[in-house]
Amino acid sequence: MISKSKLAIELSNIKTFLQPDLRLEQYPTDSEIAAGVIWKAYLNGDIKGKIIADLGSGTGILSYGCLLLDAKKVYLIEKEKLANHIAKENLSPLKNREFFEGDVSQFNKKVDTVIQNPPFGTKTRHIDKIFLKKAMQISDKIYSLHKTSTKDFIARLAEKNSFKVREIINFNYPIKQAFPFHKKPIERIKVSCFILEKKI
Ligand code: SAH
Repeated sequence: MISKSKLAIELSNIKTFLQPDLRLEQYPTDSEIAAGVIWKAYLNGDIKGKIIADLGSGTGILSYGCLLLDAKKVYLIEKEKLANHIAKENLSPLKNREFFEGDVSQFNKKVDTVIQNPPFGTKTRHIDKIFLKKAMQISDKIYSLHKTSTKDFIARLAEKNSFKVREIINFNYPIKQAFPFHKKPIERIKVSCFILEKKI
């Protein structure tokens, strides 16, 4: 078993987007944040031996971390070709992964846990809602990154679907200068990991 800090280091070494696609909001999860989320899920018993879906998996950082912590299997769901290409390279040394190259709406396998950093919906309105609804359809346990400001919206959506917000972990998410309209080299925005659980 590796430690949390070792996990963060391993995750910092994987390849990220070469030319992020702005329309698809391709912002990679920072390795420290990815390690924080995955470690938390691991401590909650939601990773080891579990089947996991990573919706909007991008270059695969979250999936990679789950496999390092002994997930039974990870599905990577991503519709963009180049991201899938990089994710395949990143995950090539690991087993128990399956790529689903298509739109998140088309994925219908039941899983134990969803771990996702989906688009926040700043380019395509309501895409965050589409990801969350899909996650609630396929799993009873969800770790999902969103802008902290969307907290009330997420709580309402969870409630409507018989889920509850079990915990919220806050992060300052670094957005590196990836697009011409970014003025500072690193901008930080408030992002939270929402842990959702199906009501029993
Ligand atoms: N989860 C990755 C990437 C986050 S960026 C990480 O943590 O680093 C969000 C990803 O969602 C991008 O790779 C984008 O291409 C993908 N995406 C956006 N809309 C999608 C859709 N409708 N179906 C599948 N993937 C989508």
